[in-house]
Amino acid sequence: MLWAHLHEQEQMRLALQADLLAGTVSHAVLITGPSGSGKRTWGKILAHALLCPDRRGAEPCLECSSCRLFASGNHPHFFYLEPKGQTIKIEQIREIRGKFFFEGDPRVCLIHQADRMTAEACSSLLKILEEPPEGLYFILLAEQPHQLYSTIVSRCRRYSLQPLSPAAIASILEQRAGIDRAKASIISRMSKGLPGVALEMAEDPGFESRIREASRLGARLSAGDLRPREILEQALVLSEREDLMPFLEMLFLYYRDGLVQKLCHNEALLVNPSQDVSALEKLEPHALVAALELLHATLKEFKSTNVNRRLAMEGLLIQLQRRFRYA
Ligand SMILES: [Zn+2]
Repeated sequence: MLWAHLHEQEQMRLALQADLLAGTVSHAVLITGPSGSGKRTWGKILAHALLCPDRRGAEPCLECSSCRLFASGNHPHFFYLEPKGQTIKIEQIREIRGKFFFEGDPRVCLIHQADRMTAEACSSLLKILEEPPEGLYFILLAEQPHQLYSTIVSRCRRYSLQPLSPAAIASILEQRAGIDRAKASIISRMSKGLPGVALEMAEDPGFESRIREASRLGARLSAGDLRPREILEQALVLSEREDLMPFLEMLFLYYRDGLVQKLCHNEALLVNPSQDVSALEKLEPHALVAALELLHATLKEFKSTNVNRRLAMEGLLIQLQRRFRYA
C-alpha cells in the first residue's frame, strides 16, 4: 500500500507527506480512530516511507533493499508490537529495546493497540520518548487514547482518522474485495465509514442470505401473520444467532428502505435498491417509523447492557407485529 492508495483524510495525508518531504516527521506519532478505521494501514505506510532511503517524494521507492525487506515482513529495523493476550507487557518492549539505540539507519516501532500497554510498559516507553535516540520513530495506534498516559500523548504528534464517505468505502471494496457494485453499495452504507468493517462484511459468507432472511421476517411481521407460538420460536432461534446484531441492523435497513420508498420514491436514497419492499407498501409511514424506533432501541440495549437476548427478542417481535397490525 502507498499513500496514493488511501482514500480521503486529506488533511492528515498532506500533513504526513509534508513532514516526510521536509524530514520533520515527529519521533512519536499517535494515530487514533475506531476499530476498522484503517490505523494499521496508515501506520504501516508511514513506517515503510520512513525506512526507505530512496523515497520518490513521500512514497517509498518499492525497489531498494529496505523496501523489499519491508514488503517481505523481515525488515530488521521495523519493530511491531501488539497485545500478547490482553495487554502489551514490558517484556515485549525489553526484548527489542536494545535495537532502538543502533545508530545510523532509521528505525520504526509500530505499536498496535497502544492503549493496551501495561503501566510498566508505558513507563518504559516514556523513558525512551523523553530522550529519543536519533533516527528512532514510534507510531502508536490507539482506539481509546484517553487510556494512554497523558505524558505519552503529550509527546506525540496526534492524527485522528475520520469515517470515510460511502463512495470511498464502495471504491475500496471494488478494488480490494473485488465485489460487485450492488453489494458494495449496501456494505458501504452499513459499515459506518470504517473500511476495516466494510472489508470484513465483504468476506462474510452469510451476508447475502442474512439480507434475504431479514427481509422475509420483516415482511411477515409487517403482514401481522406470525402466530404467538411462532413468535416465541423465532425469538429463541434469533437470540441464539451469533450474528444477531448484524441481522437486526439488516431488519432495520429493510424497514428504512420501505419508508424511503414510500415517502421519497427516490432510488438513490435506498441502501439496498435490489431489495423487494413491496410488502410494506400498504403500511402507514408512522408504523414504519415506530418499527425503526423499536429496532433502534433494541440495538442500543444490546450494545450497552447485558440483556437477556431471548426475552428482548420476544418483546421486540411482539411489539413490532402489534405496531403493524394496529397501524
Ligand atoms: Zn525504497
